[in-house]
Amino acid sequence: MKELQYLNKYFIKYKYRFLLGIVITIVAQIFSLFTPELIGNSIKVIEEFSRQSDATIGDIKSTLLKNILLILVTTVIAGFLTFLMRQTLIVMSRYVEFDLKNEVYQHYQVLSQSFYKKNRTGDLMSRISEDVGKVRMYVGPAVMYSLNTLIRFTVVIIYMYNISPTLTLYSLLPLPLLSYGIFKISSEIHIRSGKFQENLSTLSSFSQEIFSGIRVIKAYAIENQKQDEFSALAQDSRDKSMSLAKVNSLFGPLMILLIGLSNLVVIYAGGMMYINGDIPDIGVIAQFILYINMLTWPVASLGWVSSLVQEAEASQKRINEFLKEQPEIKNSNPNSSEIIGKIEFKNVGFTYEDTNINALKDISFTVNPGETVAILGKTGSGKSTILTLISRLYDIKKGKLLIDNQPIHEVNLNDLRNHIGVVPQDAFLFSDSIKNNIKFGNEDATDEEVIEAAKKAVVHDNIITFSNGYDTVLGERGITLSGGQKQRVSIARALIKNAPILLLDDCLSAVDTETEEAILNNLLVFCKDKTTIIVSHRISSAKNADKIIILEEGEIIQQGTHNQLVEQEGYYKELYLKQLTEKEIS
Ligand code: ADP
Ligand code: MG
Repeated sequence: MKELQYLNKYFIKYKYRFLLGIVITIVAQIFSLFTPELIGNSIKVIEEFSRQSDATIGDIKSTLLKNILLILVTTVIAGFLTFLMRQTLIVMSRYVEFDLKNEVYQHYQVLSQSFYKKNRTGDLMSRISEDVGKVRMYVGPAVMYSLNTLIRFTVVIIYMYNISPTLTLYSLLPLPLLSYGIFKISSEIHIRSGKFQENLSTLSSFSQEIFSGIRVIKAYAIENQKQDEFSALAQDSRDKSMSLAKVNSLFGPLMILLIGLSNLVVIYAGGMMYINGDIPDIGVIAQFILYINMLTWPVASLGWVSSLVQEAEASQKRINEFLKEQPEIKNSNPNSSEIIGKIEFKNVGFTYEDTNINALKDISFTVNPGETVAILGKTGSGKSTILTLISRLYDIKKGKLLIDNQPIHEVNLNDLRNHIGVVPQDAFLFSDSIKNNIKFGNEDATDEEVIEAAKKAVVHDNIITFSNGYDTVLGERGITLSGGQKQRVSIARALIKNAPILLLDDCLSAVDTETEEAILNNLLVFCKDKTTIIVSHRISSAKNADKIIILEEGEIIQQGTHNQLVEQEGYYKELYLKQLTEKEIS
């Protein structure tokens, strides 16, 4: 129960609702006790009539009719109160679920990228949906049924005790046996359903992968093989579900057996006591049988409740572990920072902690506000890493990274990111309309500004050919666009942000040279007063830059202007000559 204590703050938050639920439950239980009493009374009246007939048949009829009416009224009231109890307590659990989901989601967003690399997406999703759902089962049904059982037990046993302590004792005798049996079966159900769930999640992640990789599967014609793998999994799932069903079906008969046993005890012991004159009238026996039946279902539900609590405990543990996770990148400056756009690397070294890859070694360079710097180099040379560090998606441990002469970790994190327009290497688009994907860079942008940005990114002409134009909704990961189109929408998104710093990571790689030329010309105008870093593997993207940096294995091996670099032997000149001849050939 230790982990579940975390939820106490929510019980406190919704304390009035919770207290109201408790009060309603108590009243509902009291009302439901009238029925056995009235039935007992009716039987007593009938029995008395058959023994000593000084009462008239009319008297009996009116007593019975009165009892029936009362039973109807109290049952309706008890039913209505039970409905209110559910309304109060279950609705409270929905509020808690809502709050907890928001809390988890909010925490997800502050955590750093390294957290997302350590955890699988499936795990993250199940925490916010399944785990929170299981916790809700504790806050709602488990608490409600426990409360219900507790109150019913107290109230019913007090009633029974007042009528006959001895008969109470007899009739409760089988209950420990009942709860033990039910506990055993419930834990078996719990274990088997856990195995079944596990198998189910394997099955669904298997199918999910198949669906996303369906193109490869069809192209390699391995449908039959995958079909067999699926069948094996499905077979396993069937076996597990059958074994669960077997135990499940034991539950009902066991209940009936044990209730029957209790009834027998009451009839026998009660009968003996009646004969000996230890209980006042025969109606008491009927009354007790009804009481016993009122007690058995709550006892049975305890087994179920205990498995709910166990599951909730495990889920809450996972949630707690994650809520304890501290973001590695923290904002240490509560004041807002003005950002002009000077970027300075001083002997920066960077190693990715999880892979131990030394991506950058002793990097030093400066980009003055308004300057454009191009970074070139082979794949894996560390180009993207440099851009990631400027957005502070990772913190550096070696050297210094200054933004406007201030160490980057002292700059207000939000302001820093708000002043950087990024086009990442893998253009990610949300499954939303194209317009909204572009407006992502600036929520308040007007339609004209969206079109303006798309024109600068040379994608406007493509967009208007779609039948829905800017309102075209992209599929998951923007699958309906070509690679080059995705890159250009992604550029438009960065441009509309109009930030003083613009980071372009190889964002023209899937664009043909003619379009590239057009975009570069637009960028030349747009970026005139902006600090721009453009990562590329083409000379065309680099040659107009104020400075060109050549990276190799995390080190700067050359830097200078286009004119300086073509004079030197090295990577840049080789690339220049190669791309020159390619152009001539085409
Ligand atoms: P480039 O952009 O020049 O192709 P990167 O900066 O992406 O190069 O990568 C530099 C090196 O760092 C590569 O060896 C790559 O494998 C490694 N690397 C890049 N990103 C990560 C990451 N998120 N985690 C671990 N290693 C990474
Ligand atoms: Mg890269």
